[in-house]
Amino acid sequence: MSPFPDELERRCPRLGGPVRFAYCRTAAARGGVCPKILDCWWERFDVVSLMRKALSGEAFARLSQPHRPPNKVASLIDLIRQARERTGQAP
Ligand code: SF4
Repeated sequence: MSPFPDELERRCPRLGGPVRFAYCRTAAARGGVCPKILDCWWERFDVVSLMRKALSGEAFARLSQPHRPPNKVASLIDLIRQARERTGQAP
């Protein structure tokens, strides 16, 4: 018997429709765990303990990192800097 509650279902904030846990634990590139799995499932069952047992220490540590979108202001400043470098303008 699988240790995973693969039949549990929830609405996926990325896809906008229902997905099963089985999908979430294989949704990432090369069949890996979706990086949002802890955020999405912690209210339904002890997903932290389950994934800690199922994954390597390194893989679990990556899941535990907060997933922040890139800072938009820093990205804009970097784009401006790159444009100035291309055109030879001083900052
Ligand atoms: S863990 Fe990933 S695939 Fe699953 S519901 Fe959350 S965002 Fe969607």
